[in-house]
Amino acid sequence: MSDLESFRTELRTFLENETPKEIRGQLGPDAAYWGGRNPELHHPEAKRYCEIMASRGLTAPTWPKEYGGGGLSREEAKVLDQELGRLRLPPPLTGFGLQMIGPTLLQFGTEEQKQEHIPPIVRGEIRWCQGYSEPNAGSDLASVQAGAVIDGDEITLNGQKIWTSYGDKSDWMFALTRTDSQVKKQMGITFLLLDMDQPGVEARPIKLISGASPFCETFFENAKAHTRNIINGLGGGWTVAKALLGHERNMIGNVFGGGAPRGDKGGPPKNPLAELARQYLGEADGRLSDPSIRDRVTAVSMDHRAFLLTMQRNADNLKAGHRPGPESSIFKIYGTELNQRREELMLSIRGPQAVGWETPGFSQEELDQTRAWLRSRGNTIEGGTSEIQLNIIAKRVLELPD
Ligand SMILES: Cc1cc2nc3c(=O)[nH]c(=O)nc-3n(C[C@H](O)[C@H](O)[C@H](O)COP(=O)(O)OP(=O)(O)OC[C@H]3O[C@@H](n4cnc5c(N)ncnc54)[C@H](O)[C@@H]3O)c2cc1C
Repeated sequence: MSDLESFRTELRTFLENETPKEIRGQLGPDAAYWGGRNPELHHPEAKRYCEIMASRGLTAPTWPKEYGGGGLSREEAKVLDQELGRLRLPPPLTGFGLQMIGPTLLQFGTEEQKQEHIPPIVRGEIRWCQGYSEPNAGSDLASVQAGAVIDGDEITLNGQKIWTSYGDKSDWMFALTRTDSQVKKQMGITFLLLDMDQPGVEARPIKLISGASPFCETFFENAKAHTRNIINGLGGGWTVAKALLGHERNMIGNVFGGGAPRGDKGGPPKNPLAELARQYLGEADGRLSDPSIRDRVTAVSMDHRAFLLTMQRNADNLKAGHRPGPESSIFKIYGTELNQRREELMLSIRGPQAVGWETPGFSQEELDQTRAWLRSRGNTIEGGTSEIQLNIIAKRVLELPD
């Protein structure tokens, strides 16, 4: 038996015997486990599943073992994906720790910083949020103003962030701060990690028209941090910020564009968009009855399959140690625009049944559809707008002149 086959056999036995049965099939985004200190946010089975997987480093399978990762090779990590899929087990952990700050720390952190922050990420103990955007610094991110003043080992932070996703549910923040206003704006930015659980930090949820509050305004009033939590030195934050955005854009492209379409619970034998069209609009001569919907279903489904293959190649590269570069803007823009096309298509298929809010006469799935369609409008803004991605692709991928 080859090493990879014996790895598979041993892993399969572990997953079959040790993981909670209740978690199988919980594949939707609502069931994703984000970890963190606040027990009220945890489903007990999801927490247990995360802990069992983390005990073997399988929440961060390809990260080095010395920081709690699994130390798996690219091939072994692929086997893990296949075996999770076989048992319909979800990823044991998600979040900005695992997908953004963790990989960034592996690249830029000192040994002490890695030892302090990466194992708690792998174990799902700390939930992270992103303090980048400010009221006057979104697309023009290098204009951040939240000011950090250093006195000995202590940093004092004053200012404001905005659109902090899950700021009120997070334990720590990675933030872009201004430590020098006298130099070129990119050179005066310091990348800082800070604990949110302190009197000087207030995350106020922004209430949306939908009633949900997925993001916050975050205020710092003499918030404190320690200089050991500056990443890449004073004034070295812009390089770190851009590297992290590469991870973020990969993640957004993957989550919104790459995943199985909603309703596709058990792999790909049936096309869920075609199934939906069949259900709502019917068939004629064994084909979807509406020719224009038929064309759109075909186009979106083909583009989705092609994008999945591209993202699979990209995931393989990342597992092999490649660091995301400006090409992540291509995945971000394509994945998010694909998701918007898919949501709009589902809206057209369901017709008036897709525009319910809370009145009777709509199924739960139809009400979820309305919300998912509205949520998808933000996809081409979060993580940098599509216009900004096009600028990056033009300059840094195609190397076009200014
Ligand atoms: C769902 C969601 C979650 C988010 N989560 C977070 C988070 O957790 N943390 C965080 O820090 N931020 C977060 N954001 C904020 C997000 O990063 C910003 O909204 C985004 O970068 C755009 O900035 P802005 O809103 O200030 O728009 P602006 O920068 O004011 O842009 C306004 C418009 O002008 C266009 N524009 C601006 N500059 C240019 C240019 N040079 N060329 C062409 N067009 C241009 C933009 O494309 C846009 O259409 C989130 C946003 C959303 C929607």
